[in-house]
Amino acid sequence: MEKRFSFSFVFARTILYHSSVMNILTRYWPDAYAESVWTIDYGKLYRMGYRGLIFDIDNTIVPHGEPSTPEADALMAEIRAIGFRVLMLSNNSIARVTSFVENMDVLYICNADKPDPAAFEKAVEMLGTDKAQTLCIGDQVFTDILGANMAGIRSILVKFIGYYTEKHIGKRRQLEKVILRLYRLDGSRYNRLGQIEKQEKNNGRKEA
Ligand SMILES: [Mg+2]
Repeated sequence: MEKRFSFSFVFARTILYHSSVMNILTRYWPDAYAESVWTIDYGKLYRMGYRGLIFDIDNTIVPHGEPSTPEADALMAEIRAIGFRVLMLSNNSIARVTSFVENMDVLYICNADKPDPAAFEKAVEMLGTDKAQTLCIGDQVFTDILGANMAGIRSILVKFIGYYTEKHIGKRRQLEKVILRLYRLDGSRYNRLGQIEKQEKNNGRKEA
């Protein structure tokens, strides 16, 4: 009797343990993964019904702290011309963010405190879209993706651009790699948005 109890107890605990671990992990899983902001097929996203895009800046569009480029300005203009409303959501300072968006017709939130979902909710409110029509695009699972998931917004993870200059960022990247490996193993969650990259990746980069 005692044995049966302990067996079912252990079994139940195992199930609970695994399901809660999976629940925690899925919070870090993006809906899609893309090589970079340059390879994404924004026209396709628009045709899928998306109307608002929330972008991370640092290591997503340019290396950390670097100014915008003519290519980045042109990409945002192209995205705006498709019909998207665009918002830059950054944990960086107002000076950094305002100088980055200087030549862009986009909204922004600085000192966003990502992954705080409140910042993502505010972004959707400013965009005037609803959550189902909004996508978040960023390079970090612990800020961009976690925050978007907590706020109920779909997300695209892009490859980090820049250098591992800060030690803690390097460690985070290692953890990210493990999380992404598990993400790829879970067929039910992997690439929920389908093929969202331009077919010829090398031609995806927009020249000024
Ligand atoms: Mg970033």
